[in-house]
Amino acid sequence: MLTIPFQMRIGHPILACSWIALIGCGTIAWAQTPGPWKAHDMSRPRPQAVQTNPALPVPPPSDAVILFDGQDLSQWRSATGEAAGWVVHEGYLESVPDSGYLYTVRGFGDCQLHVEWSSPVKVMGDGQGRGNSGVFLMSRYEVQVLDSFDNVTYPDGQAGAVYGQYPPLVNASRKPGEWQSYDIVFRRPPFRRDGSLLKPAVITVLQNGVLVQDHVEIWGGTSWLKHLPYDNHADRMPLALQDHGNPVRYRNIWLRELPEQQPAGPAEDRRPVIAIAERAIGNYVGDFLRDDGAAVWITAPQGRLHLQLEGSRQPLELVAHSTTEFSFRHLAGGLTFELDESKLATRLVMEYGGTKIEARRK
Ligand code: MG
Repeated sequence: MLTIPFQMRIGHPILACSWIALIGCGTIAWAQTPGPWKAHDMSRPRPQAVQTNPALPVPPPSDAVILFDGQDLSQWRSATGEAAGWVVHEGYLESVPDSGYLYTVRGFGDCQLHVEWSSPVKVMGDGQGRGNSGVFLMSRYEVQVLDSFDNVTYPDGQAGAVYGQYPPLVNASRKPGEWQSYDIVFRRPPFRRDGSLLKPAVITVLQNGVLVQDHVEIWGGTSWLKHLPYDNHADRMPLALQDHGNPVRYRNIWLRELPEQQPAGPAEDRRPVIAIAERAIGNYVGDFLRDDGAAVWITAPQGRLHLQLEGSRQPLELVAHSTTEFSFRHLAGGLTFELDESKLATRLVMEYGGTKIEARRK
């Protein structure tokens, strides 16, 4: 039976618009979603239940942004920017039915987020109607909050799911009323200047210390009954908590902002690079000796200069910046050769990682 969409009841602006769009079409279009499963497939394998015993609450680290420490909702607001309609009791905040989503005042992008939550002790409803809430990264990518202890629903809609996309790897849910935790690492979706998607958002989630989402790529905004492709949005957007009409509680919410990820591989050396003439390569090749008697070998496989330390199996490729100054292609540091009148390397000084090595030609 088609129930009243919860997004409509609570008035979430993004998702409510989606529902209006569906109604406007006259029929509900079940869009094909990427991956082997369509959204909300009840035949999808159910995650195995795992017992957990998390040590909660988890104190925030010193660099965390404290979003809720049990005192007040000063870091939160309603969808319209007014004071949040949720209530604070004895160190926790509780969703008030029909009060709407809760949004952080500040926006966030890449982050590590810690949230503790509990579903109501008194079990009411079933499926999606039992202890439903949600943690929305950037106001639009939901990690589902649900009482999933002995409660059957579609696997991509149970606690720990990326809603409508990825079921949790296991069902790590605790009993109703018990405090649970989410630890989330989220990488936002960057967009190109023309507004097209550069990379999808990526999320990792631990529920009660157990991995439930392993670095999965989010397909787009999460929603009920609709596939939402990515649409260009800001780099930072508020974190949101969902009012789904159930008095779900939250406490100890903190977040660490993460630096943007750097491209893989070693940093580019911006110094000019020169090519050592083939006829001059031999001037560097040879055996060198350190004062302690250990050997340093300069070799040139395929005409590319390498340095190898005695006791190390890995030759280090050299990059020439002049006939005497070299760097290592993958290692921070450098190498200086002393050349005699005939341009023969007679001595070398290597520096890396706070270590200086000097050697003379044997
Ligand atoms: Mg939800």
